[in-house]
Amino acid sequence: MSKNTKQFIEQQAFQVREEYGFTTYEIDLHQLGDEVGIEIQTQEVDQHGISGALIRSGNNFLIYYSSFINNIPYQRFSIAHEFGHYFLPEHPDNIFDSNGFHASSTNSKDSFEKEADYFSTCLLMPKHLFENEIYKFNDGLEAIKGLASVFNTSLTTTAIRYIELTETPAMLVISSKGIIEAVFDTKELRKFGARRYSKNNIFPNKNIITTEALKKEISLNEWVETNQNIKAIEETITLGGYDKVLTIITTSTLYEEFEEHEEVQWEPPRFKK
Ligand SMILES: [Zn+2]
Repeated sequence: MSKNTKQFIEQQAFQVREEYGFTTYEIDLHQLGDEVGIEIQTQEVDQHGISGALIRSGNNFLIYYSSFINNIPYQRFSIAHEFGHYFLPEHPDNIFDSNGFHASSTNSKDSFEKEADYFSTCLLMPKHLFENEIYKFNDGLEAIKGLASVFNTSLTTTAIRYIELTETPAMLVISSKGIIEAVFDTKELRKFGARRYSKNNIFPNKNIITTEALKKEISLNEWVETNQNIKAIEETITLGGYDKVLTIITTSTLYEEFEEHEEVQWEPPRFKK
């Protein structure tokens, strides 16, 4: 069990960028490997769910990543994850088997794996740089796509980071084969009410028939338990041959604005006698 906090991990990733002089939005991970003295190797064969590995021999480290999935942003996430195991306290002393081998898989519940995933997110998409860019785009899918291209990251990891850092009321639903795998929402959205769906629920949208992004205006209460009629935008994009669907819900209404309007009391007219 590892106990590095998110804030600490963010700071560590920031310091790695500072230390090795990476100032660009998209970090060159192979260059980082050169700077640190870690060789990065790949193989195209299917490693049965292994996205990458860190191999240790004394104080020599080697990063291996799978290129079986032919997707650069996905591979970058795997490499940055392995750097997490190298840089984060507790990791180098705990993650290796007796042969100095650590195999990684994405979305693992193991605390070391989760920390390395978060380190990867922070190294690829540092908070301050992400926040500089986030409002240059329209809210929702346009921002996620734009940021993914700025940082050369996958739509899924960028969408999760977007929900973590945006001030917009927004929700992200990740589903696969009609079942919801994860729901993320922002503090601003939660003010409106509780989410209607969570993990393992049946995905309520059945009209996903194209790989094109779909965008439509909806009422927020389709996704959030609110009695108010608040307009929202629902955008859906299908990834990886229909396997995974990202749904992003945003509203331009802020809860505070909406509350202020609600609080205006109507008073009957008064007339002078
Ligand atoms: Zn790992």
